[in-house]
Amino acid sequence: MNRQAIVFTAKSLCAVVLAGCISVGQTPPILVKRAQMHMGTLVTITAIAPSDTAAQQAVTAGFREIHRLEEILSTWIPASDLSRVNAAAGREPVRVAPEAFLLIKRSLEMAVLTEGGFNIAVGPAVEAWSVTERAHVPTAGELTELKPLVDLGQVRLDEQAGTVSLARPGMRIDVGGIGKGFAADRAAAVMQEAGATAGVVALSGDIKTFGRMPVGERFRFGIQHPRKEGTVLASLELENEAISTAGDYERYFERDGVRYHHILDPQTLRPARQCRSVTVVAAEGTVADGLDTGIFVMGPERGMALVERLPDVEAVIVDDTGKVLVSSGLKPRLRIENTTP
Ligand code: ADP
Ligand code: MG
Repeated sequence: MNRQAIVFTAKSLCAVVLAGCISVGQTPPILVKRAQMHMGTLVTITAIAPSDTAAQQAVTAGFREIHRLEEILSTWIPASDLSRVNAAAGREPVRVAPEAFLLIKRSLEMAVLTEGGFNIAVGPAVEAWSVTERAHVPTAGELTELKPLVDLGQVRLDEQAGTVSLARPGMRIDVGGIGKGFAADRAAAVMQEAGATAGVVALSGDIKTFGRMPVGERFRFGIQHPRKEGTVLASLELENEAISTAGDYERYFERDGVRYHHILDPQTLRPARQCRSVTVVAAEGTVADGLDTGIFVMGPERGMALVERLPDVEAVIVDDTGKVLVSSGLKPRLRIENTTP
């Protein structure tokens, strides 16, 4: 009997339990799990492979891929492709790595799906609030001035040239709402190339899985209760799927009894108010992460209507009163743990 329990501490708490029997004469698959800091967050990678060497190599390849993407996508790194795009705003198109181009393209698709709720041009407004650094409440005047800079129509992609341009000076692309899901997808892909038969890539609450546990169970994940720290709201099993949560409970500050958090409504440039958390399940981490942020802005009604229209996309939305909405495809799969507001 080989029994091992693994608990990830992440925004979407996830617990993976492995239990099973080893039949005589068969080498069991090996599970390797390691954690490192990347993209400003704790990244946990789990690989399952026929040998310890293969599992270790897959985990290393996953981390290396995330590090490589961070150098391209991080706006905290001045020489990154996206920093160069931002620095050239209002001046000239910038040729970027194919990964940066693709991520921006996918981001624009998410913007269309979420009717503008998801908007990577919110950078200047995110900076004006600096929710975790300065905790500044911008004046109405400051926000009005920023409005022309968050116009997604001014983000231009040239497929032939492989360039991105921001038409107005002061514009800034911010992929904080989708980049971790994208990185999780890419890491999972290189892990498979390296020989992993199954795995989990978790960048905080943005998680991509592939395959199943060594003895055939699916990976089980818990969704964090948005108002009860350390409490699981509900849990579910995933197979070749991604899960991602956007919430108002991790990065926020309070002023005069009002909670100001990091997901901004591109219309008002103020924190979106209709949800406490949005968890999206999709095949790709890019979609799950992009949609969680966009649906958070859309609100529970329009957001859930979108989820029901999209094939292979499911969601759990906690609205501003604490009511829990579950998409029709997820209802039979979701184990409710604690949904009292
Ligand atoms: P995290 O997993 O880091 O909490 P989320 O997926 O919840 O990220 O996205 C939040 C981040 O997305 C913010 O910190 C900001 O950088 C960016 N952001 C804020 N509002 C929007 C928006 N309306 N559209 C796209 N990105 C946004
Ligand atoms: Mg997101």
